[in-house]
Amino acid sequence: MATQQFKAESKRLLDLMINSIYTNKEIFLRELISNASDAIDKSYYRSLVDQNISFNKDDFYIRITADKENRTLTIEDKGIGMTKEELENNLGTIAKSGSFAFKNEAEAKEGVDIIGQFGVGFYSAFMVSDMVTVKSKSIDSDKAYKWESKGAEGFDIEECSKETVGTEIILKIKENNEDEKFDEYLEEYRLKALIKKYSDFIKYPIKMLVKKS
Ligand code: ADP
Ligand code: MG
Repeated sequence: MATQQFKAESKRLLDLMINSIYTNKEIFLRELISNASDAIDKSYYRSLVDQNISFNKDDFYIRITADKENRTLTIEDKGIGMTKEELENNLGTIAKSGSFAFKNEAEAKEGVDIIGQFGVGFYSAFMVSDMVTVKSKSIDSDKAYKWESKGAEGFDIEECSKETVGTEIILKIKENNEDEKFDEYLEEYRLKALIKKYSDFIKYPIKMLVKKS
């Protein structure tokens, strides 16, 4: 299938993020952990109202895996997952999340900490990633799909294999450059500090695995 375009507003926000208007890039981890937590909540609520759906308490955790050799950081949950349509609609538009709060680019450039206050959600992953891959299997489907994007150019979706219901967000972490360091997002001490700083209130355990190169 041909590469799909982001909705206009989403593209604008992505451009702003990718073009480094925002210095507090570290908040991406908070956003992805909070989405994983929401997804586990949703699957728990579904199990309460739908007798066909059981939940296993052992699945209620969020796993973060840093792989230095491949420069990937993966955030994984066994929550509700997304169908192909949900991947398209939920990750293809920012307007839905209600957090697109910039009034204009000038305001953003002046450093008003809108992102810090409200969160911009999923798209913040692009502040630290060259490519974002989302593998997901919905609780309502037996097929799994892979959503992939390098940023403002759009995204591709194709079927993939995935054993468990839930979502894996795989970030290909950017290389360091003269102005910015990204290596630290693959370091255990840094990830731990970020989790402590922003995600201390998350009610599910966060498990961390760091693969050394
Ligand atoms: P918000 O969390 O404010 O809705 P986001 O941009 O963070 O906005 O996420 C957009 C949507 O993508 C979510 O509302 C959810 O439907 C979907 N989503 C993101 N991450 C996950 C995940 N790990 N599991 C299931 N759905 C997800
Ligand atoms: Mg969110």
